[in-house]
Amino acid sequence: MEHKRTSWNINGITRKLSNLGFNLASFAEDFSIIPKGDPKQALRIRRFFISLFVYILLNMPLSYLAYAGGFMQFKPLLWGWIFTTVFVVTLYVIFRTGLNKRMKDPSLTSAQICLASLVVMYAMFFVYEAKGILFAVYVLILLFGIFRLDTRQFLNVSAFILLTYGIDMYLLHVYRPQVIDIRFEIIQWFGLGVVLASVSFIGGNISALRRDLANSRKKLQASLEKIQEMAIHDDLTGFYNRGHLMELVETENNRSNRTGSVFSVAMLDLDKFKDVNDTFGHQTGDEILITFSNIVRNVLRKTDFCGRYGGEEFLIVLTQTDRHDAKIFAERLRACVEECLFIDMGQGRKSKVTVSIGLAEHLKNEGIDRTISRADEAMYKAKKNGRNRVEVSE
Ligand code: GH3
Ligand code: MG
Ligand code: MG
Repeated sequence: MEHKRTSWNINGITRKLSNLGFNLASFAEDFSIIPKGDPKQALRIRRFFISLFVYILLNMPLSYLAYAGGFMQFKPLLWGWIFTTVFVVTLYVIFRTGLNKRMKDPSLTSAQICLASLVVMYAMFFVYEAKGILFAVYVLILLFGIFRLDTRQFLNVSAFILLTYGIDMYLLHVYRPQVIDIRFEIIQWFGLGVVLASVSFIGGNISALRRDLANSRKKLQASLEKIQEMAIHDDLTGFYNRGHLMELVETENNRSNRTGSVFSVAMLDLDKFKDVNDTFGHQTGDEILITFSNIVRNVLRKTDFCGRYGGEEFLIVLTQTDRHDAKIFAERLRACVEECLFIDMGQGRKSKVTVSIGLAEHLKNEGIDRTISRADEAMYKAKKNGRNRVEVSE
């Protein structure tokens, strides 16, 4: 008895532990660093991490070395790190909560460039001696915009950089006049302006190229999808064409042979259609075919499918349907066509168009060609028996 209780307890603990493990796993899943199910957003966050990686690798060790080498004091170092941490965490929160999607540029490229350049300004103020490497960092920062920003956005970012750089130099002139020569800085400021303007135009061109490339890829994709659509559909009615229809029927046949599920096929042929063409013209004949296909579409269940088998002949596959239920379906379709398909001859006169339907239930291990030809025979029987009828192959 005692032993039993202990083993039950252990089972309970194991169960609880595995539950905990499961919960932790789903917690990690829900709060993954990069979101699943939104590839665009995932790409943005991945890009953010790439820039973050470069950025941390540059910022943290370099500023620490500057401090260790006696070029920077502890307080500005600490504040610099706090500032960059807040900036990085804020950006990540904006990305991860999806707030960025509400903004004009959801990649937040301009904002990221401006913030990063602020960090460079900060460093330049406190470690003016590192100006050489800090200018190189500018180039790196601007590189991140090359594939995203157009010329106008580039110019805006450049204006921001120029403005903050100017302010930075002014502050240096006021607070640390011993480290800079303001006249030389003004010349440098103009130089920087020219460089930034050039980068804006070149960068704008490059991102325009990239956009063109993306657009043509999209167009190509759309054309490909259209071609694929056209390859399996009939132009006039929108139903599957004969080739694709036969593939689907074959698949259904294989499934039925494997699982033993029953299905039926219906062969449809419009009555006296030659007369319709001869009396009202080919164009009217086409319109009748379109209306007919819409009637069929309305009656068809989601699991069934229809294809254009020949000129005005259609084949419907009724999945998981025996001949009894197929008869009910076909009778309903026939009645709908009788009621709704007509040519309006004006003055309240109508010329009805009807359909004859032949049904066959697929028999176990029967070849699909045989099932279809039995449905065809039933359809001819319906023609012989006066048209506008449903006949079932026994
Ligand atoms: P039945 O009742 O015995 O079927 O008589 P029917 O006149 O319909 O005879 P059949 O089925 O042999 O004739 C088919 C006609 O359908 C011949 C052809 O002109 C017409 N047809 C086939 N495809 C199209 C099409 O895409 N558009 C038009 N307007 N007519 C078509
Ligand atoms: Mg025909
Ligand atoms: Mg016909």
